[in-house]
Amino acid sequence: MMKKFGLLSVFLVSALTLAACGSDEETDGSSGSGDGGGGETYSVGIDTTYPPFEFEEDGEYKGIDIDLINAIADSQGFEIELNAMDFGGIIPAVQAGQLDIAIAGMSITEERKEVVDFSDPYFEAGPSLVVGADNNDIETLADLEGKTVVVKTGTTGADLARENQEEYGYEITQLEDSPSMFQEVSNGNADALIEDYPVIAYAIAQSGLDLKIVGDRLNGDSYGIAVLKGENDELLEKINAGLQELRDSGEYDEILDKYISE
Ligand code: GLN
Repeated sequence: MMKKFGLLSVFLVSALTLAACGSDEETDGSSGSGDGGGGETYSVGIDTTYPPFEFEEDGEYKGIDIDLINAIADSQGFEIELNAMDFGGIIPAVQAGQLDIAIAGMSITEERKEVVDFSDPYFEAGPSLVVGADNNDIETLADLEGKTVVVKTGTTGADLARENQEEYGYEITQLEDSPSMFQEVSNGNADALIEDYPVIAYAIAQSGLDLKIVGDRLNGDSYGIAVLKGENDELLEKINAGLQELRDSGEYDEILDKYISE
């Protein structure tokens, strides 16, 4: 089972004003009218290398995102089918019509808004620079000249590394999932990596990784749930209505507490 995690919980409590909703078994048919309702099944893209948001344990998908999307589906009367894939494949799969919904610790960005519509934000995150636990040479991007930085394909961390590469003169290695990135730095193949703060803080606390976070978060962003742009207004309304119910009732907090608490 997951260990409890006090530090991150302080961060969460201060960063979030979200609360939550009704019981799991409650399925409210009255909210369903039109295309998005009536027990329709939506295929949902997830990145299961991303605890505490999404991970696989004992053959089951678990995490904050998984519980949230299940609770939203329950409250709005639709079914979901989870599809685990590399993060970099998720938006293309939404665009190709293979996924109806993406929930993957996905940051809301202007660039992504050109191809997907996002729900209301549900979590505040932001990427951090991470180095080996014994590394005392690197504290900011400016210390990376001639070094190698690992990022995950298709992420905001990868964008950030590219945007700053010319200024600071480092090499970029791109991998497809988070555990491989962590491995690459802990085994000395790379000097640093960029990962969302809550994810790397959780990974270090959970698995005693030989890594440490340096400096402040490189920027602040928020996670949102994505659907194909311009074609899913009703589904998006349901997702937002479900999120709001979770915020209003207390279920949102319960979900966070289950995975991250003191
Ligand atoms: N939040 C980051 C992004 O949206 C990373 C997401 C992830 O790796 N699952 O790009």
